[in-house]
Amino acid sequence: MPPTATLEDIKAYQQKVEKDKITPDNLPPCPRCRVESMFFKIHAYRERRFLIIIEMLIKAAYCSLVRFKCPGCGKTFTDYPDFAIPHKHYTRPSITGFSASYVESNDMTYQQAVMVNRNVPGYPQNDATLAPSTIHRWITTLGCFTQTCRTALIVLLQENPGSSICRDLARLIIPQRKYKTNQRKKQLTGCRQLVIIEAFFQATFKTSIFTKLATRLAFS
Ligand SMILES: [Zn+2]
Repeated sequence: MPPTATLEDIKAYQQKVEKDKITPDNLPPCPRCRVESMFFKIHAYRERRFLIIIEMLIKAAYCSLVRFKCPGCGKTFTDYPDFAIPHKHYTRPSITGFSASYVESNDMTYQQAVMVNRNVPGYPQNDATLAPSTIHRWITTLGCFTQTCRTALIVLLQENPGSSICRDLARLIIPQRKYKTNQRKKQLTGCRQLVIIEAFFQATFKTSIFTKLATRLAFS
């Protein structure tokens, strides 16, 4: 089974939107005027297309996202469900799952990283499939959640000071054949750290760093 959010996940969020259950409380304070997010007002609903993978087929699923507005300065903020990453159409389980399989293997190629049981998820309308370059881009994105990782690490160590996580992070080596530039090495390292931190976070708090923490830190 390829990693993906399900249609049920998306429908459940849509129902929360329709029942007015989405609150701005997890959003960070307004960066311009420091108004706390609990004072934000609903500004608009925007339909958003997500790509989920059902039986190896990439299918579109739609759900509304809520935009809030700061009453101080009028800046707007989108609340993202925990299966979403801003500016990405595929869902967070797909993005983290495929990226993790690449960064956690020493010899995997991007061509191999898109495969699930010797098959590549594809679009039902044509011959297009999940592209190796898409995984490359996802790793770029995941490698930049520096603040989220740093904060998650602090919280984890507060909860469990004896955790092996720092040793695991320190031991981490990215094979040289995976990068040509230092910048790419940094992104691969950041992504791999995120995968490790997320696993510890899930095991410790039974929730993802993307449920509240990443939102609170504005996906930085
Ligand atoms: Zn403001």
